[in-house]
Amino acid sequence: MNSYIRLKVPVVAESILGKIEKRVAELDNKDLLDEELLTLHSVFGNVLERSLDILEKHPSFTAYTTKNKLRVLLEIKGENDRCYRVFPRINYCPCYSFKHQVLEHKSQVFCKHVLAARIALILGRITEHEVTQDQYLMLLRSMYDIEENNG
Ligand SMILES: [Zn+2]
Repeated sequence: MNSYIRLKVPVVAESILGKIEKRVAELDNKDLLDEELLTLHSVFGNVLERSLDILEKHPSFTAYTTKNKLRVLLEIKGENDRCYRVFPRINYCPCYSFKHQVLEHKSQVFCKHVLAARIALILGRITEHEVTQDQYLMLLRSMYDIEENNG
């Protein structure tokens, strides 16, 4: 990938997700259309397939929110029952793929957890769970424990 394309891909990815979000809100059809799947696949490739696998296994994800809903953390189940906590609109995940493929090699825009979280949010497949400020901070801290164990 040349550097121009590298810079452009995240913008294109965001724009595609934004369009799907708008379409779902307007038509109230909470399923991805074939053409949307094709477009997503052209940008995310096999990361999309892995995200769809996660979405298929888990019909709904937990969103931990504080009372005022200013802080939200989504819990995405990975392989081996491991949980990855990601923020709704920030491209960050403590997993190994994020570190290597997204940050270091820039060969992917999102890891499968971040993409699965974005799609789950768009399709409304979220169950909110209210936590206190302290509980939220504990969830945040344990998110970084995973990162350390990840090497
Ligand atoms: Zn991840």
